[in-house]
Amino acid sequence: MSLINQSATDLLAAMQAGSVRAVDVCQAFLDQIQQHDTTVRSFLQVDSDAALAAAAAVDSRRDAGEPLGALAGLPVAVKDLLCTEGEKTTCGSKMLEHFVAPYDATAIRKLKAADAVIIGRTNMDEFAMGSSTENSAFGTTTNPWDAAHAPGGSSGGAAACVAGSMAPLSVGTDTGGSIRQPAAFCGVTGMKPTYGRVSRFGLVAFASSLDQIGPLARTAADTALLLQTLAGHDPQDATSANLPVDRYTEALEQPLAGLRLGVVQEHLGDGVDSEVAAATQEALQVYQKLGASIQDISLPHSQYGIATYYIIAPSEASSNLARYDSVHYGYRCDEKAVAAEVREEREALLAAGQEDAARQVDSNLVRMFRKSRSEGFGAEVKRRIMLGAYALSAGYYDAYYLKALKVRRLIRNDYDAAFEQVDLIVGPTTPTAAFKLGEKLDDPLAMYLGDLFTVTANLAGLPAISLPCGLSSNGLPIGLQLQAPPFEETRLLRAAHMFQRATDWHTKSPEL
Ligand code: GLN
Repeated sequence: MSLINQSATDLLAAMQAGSVRAVDVCQAFLDQIQQHDTTVRSFLQVDSDAALAAAAAVDSRRDAGEPLGALAGLPVAVKDLLCTEGEKTTCGSKMLEHFVAPYDATAIRKLKAADAVIIGRTNMDEFAMGSSTENSAFGTTTNPWDAAHAPGGSSGGAAACVAGSMAPLSVGTDTGGSIRQPAAFCGVTGMKPTYGRVSRFGLVAFASSLDQIGPLARTAADTALLLQTLAGHDPQDATSANLPVDRYTEALEQPLAGLRLGVVQEHLGDGVDSEVAAATQEALQVYQKLGASIQDISLPHSQYGIATYYIIAPSEASSNLARYDSVHYGYRCDEKAVAAEVREEREALLAAGQEDAARQVDSNLVRMFRKSRSEGFGAEVKRRIMLGAYALSAGYYDAYYLKALKVRRLIRNDYDAAFEQVDLIVGPTTPTAAFKLGEKLDDPLAMYLGDLFTVTANLAGLPAISLPCGLSSNGLPIGLQLQAPPFEETRLLRAAHMFQRATDWHTKSPEL
């Protein structure tokens, strides 16, 4: 089997055994990127020389018999919103087009400490707001299974590069589904860990109470491998959990005897594509054959998930994105043009005898903030800032933001009650397989509704994984979502691994 089609786990073992060199592994993926990423466009940046140098350093340290980190020599792609010292970290935004991060995010620091080879930075919806990667300021990523379709988002590049065999492992972020939905659309495995399991230090914030960094890979075993490096307490992130990290990779093979799976029947009914529902039913049968029991559960408040998420996430975003004032960070408009514009406006008003109005004209500074933000942010980001600022404004705060926080609690309570009866909740990751590029671009609400099954895990802070469970009649992947109680990542990974040992959906690759 060619290097690029092997699992990260196998590549690691081959490198450890000395049968494969890290530079050859790196070169194989770089070749694939060079050949196919002109169509897929999953990467915003690939520094081949730096990646090859990092791989060569691993080889020579191995030759010298030095101890190496847990991911030594494995190429890893990173979503372009993880600060990486000395590297451009754009978040898919014109606002940060030239921003060079002054330090490493904890996730990046850990990858480097594990001797992973960072192979490139992946495309994403601007500031992680979106479900199709069409909101990137730097062009759209396409779905490797069919270039007319969206790869999902916001970690579209992260999922597409794994599906296209351009990286064996990739790091994404998930605020409302941004790891799981693109994983489902691209036919790979992706996990959103429990809120607090992976440090957010150095992750450019979208919605801080929902954001979580997580792994994407071909298999559950590879997902476990990457999570092992990413997870853990970090004093630099006050919300990071000070709890021991399980040995995910070692736990994989332990059988999950008597596994109790919960299904929400409504998640297989109206509004869910029939092929997606059928693939989910078949996956349930696989689990049944493996000895799991299935029972109906109810998450009565999950019907308010979208409304709640699309109040809380934009509210936090409007506050987080206030920092892009073009002074501390980010794109700055043409200041001379601003000064001239302000002067001309004032003079025209004065000439017309409108002195009061002339006094109301922006100062140069205010006009610069305004213009820089208007020019630097894309339409979806502006929409979120306005939605959030509205929901947080005096007079609407109680009706929207505060109410959303209350519903968020009810959603979590539903999960807590369900997990008294079952070990995992199973359902489709998305209501449909990948939609066509452009199809939902003019209809933000339709785009938001696709997040129906993913946002509730973020609102409740729970871990969830998406794994391939079928192909639609037009050959597009379908994703199965498993959700678990807080900090039960091991249970998710074991259940996913169990499924992947019994099925071969995760072994299917698109022909590029
Ligand atoms: N699609 C969702 C949104 O647009 C989720 C994004 C994410 O998880 N970053 O907000």
